[in-house]
Amino acid sequence: MPIDATRPYDDDNIFAKILRREVPCRTVFEDDHVLAFHDINPLAPNHILVIPKGRYVSWDDFSSTASDEEIAAFVRAVGVIAREAGLVEPGYRLLANVGADGGQEVPHFHLHLFGGRGLGPMLAR
Ligand code: 5GP
Repeated sequence: MPIDATRPYDDDNIFAKILRREVPCRTVFEDDHVLAFHDINPLAPNHILVIPKGRYVSWDDFSSTASDEEIAAFVRAVGVIAREAGLVEPGYRLLANVGADGGQEVPHFHLHLFGGRGLGPMLAR
């Protein structure tokens, strides 16, 4: 069920529980500002979720209210994760779903990193 990305942050969302270690995850990367872990329902051989540790609902929220330090840490972490997964040479895809039309289901901002096979067209026609 897609979320309304204009709602306030919900501390009961599943990624908040992962950040509080109440729910396990398979961690790929972690630093002061960022956590990355394998998606529980992978859509490609590599399907990694990259999330900020701060309480941001969506790309819109993150890009407008996160500090420059958090945004820089996030962008750099995505690059590190892709490089360490060996995805630069074969290529990969980054995706952020936002709100209802974007099909966002978890109301904590996250980037999907897909790789490991040809990923086909960007959107279904
Ligand atoms: P969205 O549709 O919000 O962009 O994507 C949410 C993603 O979170 C989905 O790909 C879904 O499989 C993943 N996900 C949902 N719950 C969990 C969970 O408990 N653990 C992990 N690792 N991924 C989850």
